[in-house]
Amino acid sequence: MRLYPGYVLRTNHKTPIFEVIEDTSKSVDMIMPACNKWRYLVDYGIENHRNCIDNVEEVLERYELNHENFGNPLNIFQKTSISSDLKLEQLPCDSKAGDNLLLECKMDVIGAVSACPMDVNAIAGSKITDIMIQILEK
Ligand SMILES: [Zn+2]
Repeated sequence: MRLYPGYVLRTNHKTPIFEVIEDTSKSVDMIMPACNKWRYLVDYGIENHRNCIDNVEEVLERYELNHENFGNPLNIFQKTSISSDLKLEQLPCDSKAGDNLLLECKMDVIGAVSACPMDVNAIAGSKITDIMIQILEK
């Protein structure tokens, strides 16, 4: 999926939460749920692998929030699609270093971000990379 300027992301109650100002990421996925410990254990036989749910819960713990309090993630720099034979495809994203997604908050937000630690399939280019988050004041 590709977001575009003016696209409004909404909460589960349809309240505008973010407006897209710029998207050069070329790959934003809203199909795949965040990875969790069961994803690595069931699909790859790996125990105790770092995962996005644990990463986000560690940050949100101070607000007494956990993954039950938020929906599926906005997977920036992740490319998931449905193939012509209706299979879910996780593909290397088309983004390159320096690409970004600029969002304007439309309400107060408690945000948590995980640089997905997926290193066993192609979705993150089979390697973990850093991401940079900037919060700008208007
Ligand atoms: Zn992840």
